[in-house]
Amino acid sequence: MQFPIHYPDILKLINAIDPIEYGKTRNFTTGAVSFLSPYIARGVISTRQILDRLEEKGYSTDQLERLMQQMSWREFFQRTWQYAEDDILDDMRLRYTGTRHQQIPEALLRAETGIDAVDDAVAQLYQTGYIHNHLRMYIASIACNVGKADWKTPASWMYYHLLDGDLASNALSWQWVTGHFSSKQYYCNQENINKYTGMVQRDTFLDYSYEILPHLEIPHILNRHIPFSPLTVLPEKKVPVLDPTLPLLLYTSYNLDPNWKKDIAANRILLLEPSHFRKHPVSERVLRFILALAGNISGLQVFTGELNEIPGLASFPAVYSKEHPLYKHFPGTKDDRDWLFPEVSGSFHSFFSYWKKCGASMRKKEKNHALLQRA
Ligand SMILES: Cc1cc2nc3c(=O)[nH]c(=O)nc-3n(C[C@H](O)[C@H](O)[C@H](O)COP(=O)(O)OP(=O)(O)OC[C@H]3O[C@@H](n4cnc5c(N)ncnc54)[C@H](O)[C@@H]3O)c2cc1C
Repeated sequence: MQFPIHYPDILKLINAIDPIEYGKTRNFTTGAVSFLSPYIARGVISTRQILDRLEEKGYSTDQLERLMQQMSWREFFQRTWQYAEDDILDDMRLRYTGTRHQQIPEALLRAETGIDAVDDAVAQLYQTGYIHNHLRMYIASIACNVGKADWKTPASWMYYHLLDGDLASNALSWQWVTGHFSSKQYYCNQENINKYTGMVQRDTFLDYSYEILPHLEIPHILNRHIPFSPLTVLPEKKVPVLDPTLPLLLYTSYNLDPNWKKDIAANRILLLEPSHFRKHPVSERVLRFILALAGNISGLQVFTGELNEIPGLASFPAVYSKEHPLYKHFPGTKDDRDWLFPEVSGSFHSFFSYWKKCGASMRKKEKNHALLQRA
């Protein structure tokens, strides 16, 4: 999969979504998934924009429901992040205590676990920065539930390589798999992997029933583990040229929306704060992707530095950014992100309690719409 960079090509990907086929096949690695997460996660497009486009094309709520539900997982994770803040980066619930180390199985990192579908997926991650959702689940289950690694190091390894790396979707999905943000640990066996990946592998360390799998010793191949402590090499610091009579618009690696306030005259800065990337490093490929997407925003200048190093920060007539849990320290006005369900926010115990509320809200809107049409 090649991920386009130019905005019109990204819009073509939205147009190409077939929500009906998506609903039937999304769990298969050859299924009709959208490949849009790198753009949604980087704030280039929004889930609301996708839904609006598909509704415009005439798809009904029933036909869109499966895709909406998946996009709502993202929204649920973002809402949890807004509410729990940095706590999402630690165990949300302390249900399982069976971890034996804080590192990453070396065989996984080297794509040598012997589970072919998983090894191919890790190789694909290094080549493209993307993996199918089901394979992400398999990888997390093998690293943590079978290999008994604490989730945080393997999660940061995956985040480092993903073009769609998003701290909430990543940390909370890993915890969903390990049972720290769900009701039980997720296990996959070889039969399930074969079914969804089209492999025909047998006699692996996962070729057991679901009754037996959780009770097995750590397979020999996962017993060697190593630390993971990468760095991000950011672009050199270059002082931006700014006009103190115009407002300042702050873009980040999570807000690269080319349509945001595009018609106003403004100073536009993509702020890459070294303190953020020290805590949450990303690969060279991911950084190149972010910088390339930034090219869709005309007049944008890249500034490697902390917020308070922006020359004349206090003197602009206005400062704007988009609301985001990572950028609460930004001054000025914070515009809302586009939500699928702006009316559903707060803390939810599970995705299903969140989705129930979204469902009720959808039905209310449909009823109001029908009443309006009849009037
Ligand atoms: C261990 C693990 C780590 C993950 N890390 C990330 C991450 O760092 N960033 C990230 O964006 N997603 C993450 N996900 C969620 C999911 O795997 C990806 O969003 C999805 O695979 C992206 O591919 P797509 O755009 O083709 O998805 P599609 O199936 O086409 O879905 C459309 C959109 O809906 C959202 N979505 C779909 N499924 C999920 C899901 N299970 N959870 C959250 N959002 C979803 C995404 O925004 C996605 O782009 C992770 C999942 C797991 C199991």
